[in-house]
Amino acid sequence: MTQTIVVLGGSYAGLQVAHRLVKNTRKTVKDLKVILVSKNSHFYWNLASVRAIIPGIVKDEEFSQPIEKGFAKYPSEAFEFIVGSAEASDLVAKTVTVSTAGGDRVLSYDHLVLATGTRTAGDDVVPWKASGTHEEIMDQIHKTAERVKTAKHIVVAGAGATGVEVAGEIRYEYKDKEVLLLSGDAHILGGDVTAGSAETELKKLGVTVQTGARVDRAVVLPDGKTEVTLQNGQTILTDLYLPTMGMAPNTEYLPSSVLKADKFVAIDEFYRVKDAANVWAAGDIVWTPRGGFVIADKQAAGVAKNIDLALHGKGPTPVKLLPMDVFVCAVGRGRGVGRMGSVKLFSYLVYMAKGKTLGMQMMPGILNGTNY
Ligand SMILES: Cc1cc2nc3c(=O)[nH]c(=O)nc-3n(C[C@H](O)[C@H](O)[C@H](O)COP(=O)(O)OP(=O)(O)OC[C@H]3O[C@@H](n4cnc5c(N)ncnc54)[C@H](O)[C@@H]3O)c2cc1C
Repeated sequence: MTQTIVVLGGSYAGLQVAHRLVKNTRKTVKDLKVILVSKNSHFYWNLASVRAIIPGIVKDEEFSQPIEKGFAKYPSEAFEFIVGSAEASDLVAKTVTVSTAGGDRVLSYDHLVLATGTRTAGDDVVPWKASGTHEEIMDQIHKTAERVKTAKHIVVAGAGATGVEVAGEIRYEYKDKEVLLLSGDAHILGGDVTAGSAETELKKLGVTVQTGARVDRAVVLPDGKTEVTLQNGQTILTDLYLPTMGMAPNTEYLPSSVLKADKFVAIDEFYRVKDAANVWAAGDIVWTPRGGFVIADKQAAGVAKNIDLALHGKGPTPVKLLPMDVFVCAVGRGRGVGRMGSVKLFSYLVYMAKGKTLGMQMMPGILNGTNY
């Protein structure tokens, strides 16, 4: 009887799990079928979003490629790709309801992989994650790029890695635009050991950094400008407001019994979803120990291995992550900050590892499954 694995989410984690199962597990489990479901018909290399909003620097196809192309080599009895959104699930009956352009589909599974990741606050205006359809994401990027081009004053709210990268990219390209980076905390990057170096690099580029500046609200005025009000009452009028703060899990289609209080998925050491049979999770949706595509990579490999073991009647093994936390953050197209564990990395090393290409050269390997 066919073993059906449904993978939800066509990004770093979901693509990898799907490829590993069709490519490797199917060698020994011949009647295996993988169904990959994604809202976005394309694999969006969102790490490049911070540069994609600068007009004319990267081409669309360098950071967005059709998922179907990456899986075209597999026979239809082994793999199916559905562009659609998981809207509901019944983890007892083992079904997921997916809304597609052609209507709802109810998919039955033997194993289910949750890899629907996260979205950023304000994702209706900013394209930092793959929140919408391909068309919606590209539209957001192009519109934001157009607004970056014409704006004279830009507020980037939230001084985590995304905010630092966005502010750095804009000032690297445009020396005549005023870029104000607002940090809700007393230090940027949440006070990480790299925060001081990042602030120095940003100042060299001409970014104005304001700390202790938590946004209360942002209101678009009739003339198109935005009035940003901080919690301390200060108001800032800007041509373009780019929020980068807050990360929410895409878990609305799941029962609350498998979610933690923060709405991320509850898992055990095997990345099995708690209180559900044959359900696994990988990537930002588990936020363990935090979000990160390098972490998602390890988790996806572990989940694929554990499903493989289950299909061979064996028990799971604990999923191993990186031995230390690695953090890299580009600051403009020439420099960056980073650390391995608590050891700081040279700016040039971060530039070579991330800032130069924002990892876009890695996209084909994940999309086509040639990495595994
Ligand atoms: C600007 C920026 C820079 C970053 N830089 C780095 C870095 O240098 N290093 C690093 O390790 N990490 C970095 N990250 C984090 C990285 O982007 C995430 O860790 C990664 O995207 C997680 O991948 P994922 O597969 O878990 O899910 P996501 O990338 O969040 O994608 C989720 C997928 O699920 C789909 N989806 C969502 N809801 C549904 C649904 N209901 N039904 C069907 N499909 C759905 C989406 O369309 C999408 O395809 C960065 C993030 C940002 C924003």
